[in-house]
Parts: sequence; structure tokens; C-alpha cells
Amino acid sequence: EPAETQSSKADAVEPVKQPAVFMNLNRLAEVQAARLKLPILAEEQVIMEAISENLVTVIVGATGSGKTTQIPQFLYETGYTSNGKMIGITEPRRVAAISMSQRVAHEMNLSSREVSYQIRFEGNSTSDTKIKFMTDGVLLKEIQLDPTLKKYSVIVIDEAHERSVFSDILIGILSRIIPRRQAKGKPLKLIIMSATLKVEDFTENVRLFKEPKPPVIKVDARMFDVTIHYNKRTAEDYLGEAYKKACKIHRQLPEGGILIFLTGQQEVNTLVRKLRATFPVHSSSKDEMRKEVSGFRKKKLEIKAKRKADKESPVKKIVLPEVKLENFSSALPDDAEGDFAEDVADLEDRGAVDHGDSDLDLDEEEYDIIAGKKRFGEQGEPEQPLWVLPLFSMLPPEKQQMVFRPPPEGTRLCVVATNVAETSLTIPSIKYVVDCGKVKEKVYDKVTGVSMFHVTWTSQASANQRAGRAGRTAPGHCYRLYSSAIFNDEFLKFSRAEIQRRPIDDLVLVMKAMNLPVVNFPFPTPPEYLQICHGIKRLLTLGALEELPDPAAGSLPKYKKIKTQKAKDLSRITSLGKAMAAFPLAPRYGKMLALSHQHSLLPYTVALVAALTVPEVLIETPLDLKENVNDVRKRWRTLRMSWAGTGNSRRLGDVMVLLRAVGAAEYEGGARDWCENNGLRHKGITEIRKLRRQLTNEINLIIPSCDLILDPHMAPPTDDQARLLRQIVLAGSVDHVARRVDDCELKTPEDKVKWRHAYRTQEMEEPVFMPTSSIGRIDMPQWVVYQDVYETHKMFMRNVTVIEPEWLAVFAPNLCTFSPPLESPEPRYDADRDKIVCHRTAKFGPASWEIPE
Ligand code: ADP
Ligand code: MG
Repeated sequence: EPAETQSSKADAVEPVKQPAVFMNLNRLAEVQAARLKLPILAEEQVIMEAISENLVTVIVGATGSGKTTQIPQFLYETGYTSNGKMIGITEPRRVAAISMSQRVAHEMNLSSREVSYQIRFEGNSTSDTKIKFMTDGVLLKEIQLDPTLKKYSVIVIDEAHERSVFSDILIGILSRIIPRRQAKGKPLKLIIMSATLKVEDFTENVRLFKEPKPPVIKVDARMFDVTIHYNKRTAEDYLGEAYKKACKIHRQLPEGGILIFLTGQQEVNTLVRKLRATFPVHSSSKDEMRKEVSGFRKKKLEIKAKRKADKESPVKKIVLPEVKLENFSSALPDDAEGDFAEDVADLEDRGAVDHGDSDLDLDEEEYDIIAGKKRFGEQGEPEQPLWVLPLFSMLPPEKQQMVFRPPPEGTRLCVVATNVAETSLTIPSIKYVVDCGKVKEKVYDKVTGVSMFHVTWTSQASANQRAGRAGRTAPGHCYRLYSSAIFNDEFLKFSRAEIQRRPIDDLVLVMKAMNLPVVNFPFPTPPEYLQICHGIKRLLTLGALEELPDPAAGSLPKYKKIKTQKAKDLSRITSLGKAMAAFPLAPRYGKMLALSHQHSLLPYTVALVAALTVPEVLIETPLDLKENVNDVRKRWRTLRMSWAGTGNSRRLGDVMVLLRAVGAAEYEGGARDWCENNGLRHKGITEIRKLRRQLTNEINLIIPSCDLILDPHMAPPTDDQARLLRQIVLAGSVDHVARRVDDCELKTPEDKVKWRHAYRTQEMEEPVFMPTSSIGRIDMPQWVVYQDVYETHKMFMRNVTVIEPEWLAVFAPNLCTFSPPLESPEPRYDADRDKIVCHRTAKFGPASWEIPE
């Protein structure tokens, strides 16, 4: 019995409290058979000895070797939970935390009470929980409440190669917790698991783990050879190329699953549709499909007729409703209510939803395919069916599970995926991989934090991971849609750690709240000093931090001027900052919630924040062929809703329209038809409802005195409340103020063109614009705050709120310059009098105004 030898060995090395109880499990026979095939089973003893003899162990194993599903079971069986403590496993992705907890519970034949998950706001862990899967952000929050992680005997950081910001910082913090637990005689074990061999940031980083260096255990996955085929030429249109390649493989090559890597959700859906239409799966629902097809034919005729009649504005492209297309393919179960989407990892996919180009505009040929020409073999024999499934992180878990099921008899499996299929999920029986070589990354301007989705080449390490997916069960083939020269010359060897790619305001705030040093923290890969400075600067603007005088220089540090690595961080968290950090949200939303608590506006702000975190609540593309884009927009713009809230909300900005939409939808019962008739996305409304409930619960835990009740049918805010709400939105967005540029300010002809209808912000030199989808487009208000800026052919503001410039003196005094007399005190909000105490003129840009007493 391996457990015996392990515990005796452990006793010799580490006399303190090593688990010695062997826990029995009653696994199902088929589960046990499947486990025995996993490469990691052969290494069980080596791994468990290393864990027992070391405080920190690194396990490297190819994806699919069994790390995530098996290590927790090994630990459990060896008794790591027998002392009443838990095994905690962190995942960078929400979906992985859920699906892995379910899988492991199933394999162990235990219930979800014992093998549980916890993601932001949501989980099923109980007092009986032995193994807990969670997102890395959740564990970070737990450390805030329990700095030595008393409840745990082992922490497993999974997918460490992904280098998510939170797992990086967790490893840094754990490197400090471990010696403390050891000193107390209650050791905490850390296991770092990685799918790639690049682990020296963890093992060689002298600031992380003192001697002895953590051992690295490699699990040899029985990998079969994968033959790599490069394209001679790198095709621009990788989507089209992927389609052709998949068709070729399916028509010409022997059986075996196909896995196609694309960059985003929208691309995945497009290709899935195309492939399903080309190789339809014959089923009993064929009649249904026929009906659907004739529906499409009729629609097509209608369009043609309309086009003829409507010569003035000929319809160039046929816009098909997405909903219909999904029904049409009918390969998947009914659309389940999706989870709300706010994991950092999900943002990649979200980008495609948010502002990718409209893939729904099909060209003629594509339309013909979908309309059934090729489907029922008007030109020749029907082809062998292909079982095409999408896979991306926003897909609900039930749909993701589909890829684990064998395809229907007589069909070939084809999974079209984003890079979620690269490591966290292993799909059995894949023999052919088609790799576009690209990845969608959120790219940030380091200074402004303005983000943009960018499709770039992936790294060589990732491309090899992708290829490896073809060799799990038999020799396979990987088709790279790019040339070997590109692979060798253009690809980075490894992808960069996330922490080096994004603004770290939230991280800085959490660390400040935990009293951790930000500048000298033992990060596996430290962020650039400039990144830290910009994070601190934004938090200073938001009032979450305050500057301390520099004893050496005798003056206040100016973060924008600090360029040297040696500079110190001279800021301190404020009580507002602490309140903000308590909410598991971006700092600006934390601030909005904290402020609304003071003004008893929490129910509205909760609804607002929820609405702002759910993408595309307002439908901006037509659901019906007869309607054009402007009709749709008009629908929710001029919405006359029974929920009268916020008066003339359209003059107050998008955010107030959103609030009104949520209030009205709930008041009306929020049925699908009602939502769609009023230009609201039904799924968005249900996501918001769920998020409101979760946030309400969370807030009641965070603010003990607060007994917030979720009232779906909240009364509309009064005009005064609506005004306060806009001030609260401003308070959370003081770094995002924009002012419309007046024509008379523009001197040169170039400027007159460049800045026409533009807004000026503090963050950027360049003009930003009001998008057509914004309610602000109607009035072009002079002063607004926006939630973020996105870039397409120009920079556009998203979710604007109309503000009054006087408010800036109260909420953003740092941004204003004040006229003399300078001896009078700083303008200050006096809560007792509910007034600003100040008597001067404030200037912001070229505008100035008297500050009222
Ligand atoms: P690793 O973490 O090393 O990548 P995993 O432990 O995730 O490996 O996976 C081990 C095996 O378990 C894989 O062959 C995978 O296909 C299988 N597996 C994982 N999740 C499921 C599931 N939900 N249903 C069926 N098989 C699964
Ligand atoms: Mg794994």
C-alpha cells in the first residue's frame, strides 16, 4: 500500500503532523479503468513522496496527463484532509473551476458537498468540503480574511504556465505564508502545476522560495508523434483557410477528430455554422430543418423583392438573425441561461462579442450554403456528416461538456475552439489539429490603460501545445495555416505573463489593502515599475490611496515623474480605498458601491454595476430582416416604458438608460418577447438579475450592518436620486471625464477635421468620439464620463453618463485648478452640511465656473 511507505518516509523528514490516514474511495469501475490509462498514475508514488518531503513542489505534465483531476485525489487518499483541513486548487478560469470540481467529484464518487467549487459570488462549498476548486481571485480574497490560510493543508496552483496575474501574486504571497506556517508547526504545502517546462520563474527566483529549490517532477505523457505540416504561404484570411483545410481533412483523410484553433467566439460561431451547413448531420429532425430552410428561401425571395423595389438604398449585404441560425443547426441543446461574464479570462472572448466586425453579414455564397442548396445535395451526393461543436469560455458548462461525449454514429467529431482548448480542457480522440497560429489578446496602452483587442501571432510554446492535442491517443497531424519561416522568425518563444501586459490598478489596491509592499513584492515576474506608478496614480485620482510626504525629499512624490527603478512607493490606502477593496469588483465599481451605501442608493447602484458588467444589454443589430440598424436603436432610445424612472433618462446618458431598461424589464416580468420588442437582449437581462442577486448577498456579507434586500421591482429613482446616481457614477469615473470640443476652439484646418464632433479627455491626446450606438449621440452633451474607450477606426467612448461640470470640484478636485485666493482651504465635501466648502472658481480645461457655497 503506497500510503504506508509515504507516511513513514514523511515522518522521518518532517516530524510535524504529516497525514497518515489512508482515505478509501469507492470509485466506479469505469472511472477506475479510465484513470489507470492516465500517465500521471504511473508517477503517483514519486509525486506523493516529493510533496511529502518538500513544502513546495512543481509538477510539469503535458495537458491531458491527469494533473488537475488526479493530484487532488492523490492528496485526499494520502490523508491531507484527515486533520479537518481542506485541499484548495486554484484555476485561472471560472469554467475550469466548475467543470473540474464536478469531474473530480464524479471520479471520487463523492458529492458536491465534499468536492466543491467557489467562483466569484458563487459556489457550493459546505462545512463538509474537503476539496475546493476556486478561481485564483477567490483565494486571494480568502487570504485577506485568513492571512495564513488556516483552513488548508495544501494549496495547488493549477495552470501556472498561464501566468495569470492572480496566480502569480498568489505564488508570491504563499512564498511568505509557507515559512510562517512551518514555524508554527502546521506546515502548508504548495503545489505548482504547469503544462510547459518553463518553470524557472518559480524555481530559480531566489526571492520566492529559499533553499532548497522546489523539485520539478515531470510526468511523461504517453504522447504519440504529431506530424507538423506548414502552409507554404501564410494566408491572410485564416478563417477561410481553416474552413478549406477542415473540408479537405474530412473528405480525404481517415477517421479521427478534428480540432480547429481560432481566436474568438465570433470566429468560432461563423466557422461552426459554415461547417454544419456543408456537412449536415442527418437526423430525425430533417423535416424540421427542411421547414427552416424553406423559411430561409422565402426570406431570401423577400429580400430580393425588397431590393428591387427599394432601388434608392439597395441592400448590399444580407443580415441574418443569429437566433434563427442557431435553431437551424439544432445540434446543441436549447440555449441555457449563461453565466454572467466577468472573469478576466473571459474578456478575450468578450472582445469578439463586443466590437468585432459583423460576421453575421454573410456573403451570397455563404447564404446559398445556409439556405440549403448544398445541404440537400442539389449538386450531387450528400457528404459524410461532421459533428461540429464550438468551444469557448463564454459557452455555458453544459455545452462545453458536449465535447467529451462521443459523436453520433457515423459522424466525425470536429471541435472549433478558441485557445481554451489549448490547455485547460482535453478533448479525447483528436487526431487532426488545424492551427491558425493567432491569438486574441487584450492589448493595453501602458499609460492610459485604453484597451484594444488585437489578434497577434501566438508563441511557439502555445503553438506546440496546440499541435500536441493531436497526439493524445494515436499519432496525429497538425496543420499550421502559416509558414515555418513565420513560426521561426515571428513567434515569441513563450507567451508573456499577463502581469506584464495589463494595467494593475485592481492588483495594487488589493495588495495595499493586504498591507503588502507593491514595489518590492516577490512576484514571479515583476511588473514594470511604470505600470505600478500608473496604477497608483489612478488609485490616487479615485481617492483609494493618498500620498505621503517623502521624508527624504521633503515634498510630495510625483508619480508621473518617477522613472528610476529605485523609487519608493509613498502612498497609503485610505478608508475609502479599504471599502473599495472589500468588493470583488474593479476599483471604480467598488467606489460607486461604497458611496451609494452612504446615500442609501445601493439597490440602484447594484443594478447599475450589474448592468455595466454584462455585455450588450441593448440590442444594436436588428433581429428582423425588415428592420435596419437605426430602427432598432430608435426602439430602445425612445422606449416608452412603464417603469418611468429617471425622468428623461435619455438626456442623462447610456448608464441611466441601462438602469431604466433593467427596472422596466423587471417591472414587466422580463419575458423574452417583451425584451426583444423593446430592444433588450433577454439573456443580458437574466444575467443582470442573477448578478444583482449575487452582489446583494455579497454586500450583506461585506457590510454586516447592511440588510440589503433584492427587490426586483424596485421603485424608479426620484429625480434627486437620479442626480445623485450620476454623481456616484462620476465619483467612480473621475479619471474618465470628457468634454466636447467646440468648433471655435479649433484653429487649424487639420484640427477642424480631426476634432469635429470630438471629445477631449485627460487620459489621451487623441480625440475620442461618441459612438452611434450611444444615447449621447442625440444631444452631444458637453460634459460626460465614460466607462471605457475602445478603438476601431477611431476611439469611441462606451457607456457615457452626462455630468455637470460643477460636480468636478467636489469629486475630482485633483483634476481642477482653482483660482486664487490660494490661502482658502482645498475644496472639500462636507458630509455634515452636505455641501462643498470652498469659494472659488474652478477650471478644468478651458472651462471655468464659480463653485457654489
Ligand atoms: P491535465 O490537468 O493534466 O491537463 P486532466 O486531469 O484535466 O489533465 O484530464 C485528464 C483526463 O480526464 C483527460 O483525458 C480528459 O479528457 C479527461 N476528462 C477531464 N474532464 C472530463 C470530463 N468532464 N468528462 C470526461 N473526461 C474528462
Ligand atoms: Mg489541467
